[in-house]
Amino acid sequence: MGDGVGRWERRAVLRRAGLLAGGAVLGAGAAAESTWIADRKLPITGGPASATLGADRQQVGAGELSVVWAVRTGQRLVALTFDDGPGPQWTPMVLDTLDRYAVPATFFLVGERVRRHAGIVRGRLGRHEVGNHSWAHHDLARRDATEVHDDLRRTHEAIVEAVGVAPRLLRPPYGHLGGSVLHAAARLDYRLVLWSLQMVEGQFPHDPAGHARRIVAGVQPGTILLAHDVGPANRLVALRGLSAMITGLQDRGFTFVTVSDLLRQATVPPAG
Ligand SMILES: [Zn+2]
Repeated sequence: MGDGVGRWERRAVLRRAGLLAGGAVLGAGAAAESTWIADRKLPITGGPASATLGADRQQVGAGELSVVWAVRTGQRLVALTFDDGPGPQWTPMVLDTLDRYAVPATFFLVGERVRRHAGIVRGRLGRHEVGNHSWAHHDLARRDATEVHDDLRRTHEAIVEAVGVAPRLLRPPYGHLGGSVLHAAARLDYRLVLWSLQMVEGQFPHDPAGHARRIVAGVQPGTILLAHDVGPANRLVALRGLSAMITGLQDRGFTFVTVSDLLRQATVPPAG
């Protein structure tokens, strides 16, 4: 008595008042979040943090997993990626622009949207690559490994049915990685693909050309570039500048490749 629960409650109250957390005064929301992380004990197996399924033999595909933000290469290669589609509003326009320049991209698809809008992408993804971006864009880092596996498996099957190609890449919503996401990705033999540069639509609200110039200047050999073909209206500024982005990068000597092609071109660093 007087120790365990009482001390926890006292610390929680102090945190809510912004008096703990390393001396920093935090807002109520931030304080509540840090309390959750600091004081709730996460389960050893099960739950969002664990990358194991308990005592039984682990089902983990080939048994290893890599996470990729960008690729080391001396060649001027860039992989353009679009998340959250397909959607009827912008996806056809993006595909038209990519067709005009014969440029490949990688589309990380949301399962329920694939199911609903299969006609938008059917027959149009031949040059492109598709990846798994979960069934309904929930935060997978809050779910356990079995739930994440079921979500990704369902999405995988919807993509195979709609596009006729089995995705090999996974990008979890928000780039959130729990142990559960790592385990499910390994079990499905996916490679985890994040990004090293992203559209910054909010900084260029009415300036597609300015936004395109910023992105063109920021790309390096091996960059994986994040864009969206579904979302709030402010994202349109990036898509309006897509032609300028493509030609600007080509003028800098860059060639567009799918993420898997980029991974195949990775320079293996010398041993030692
Ligand atoms: Zn997303």
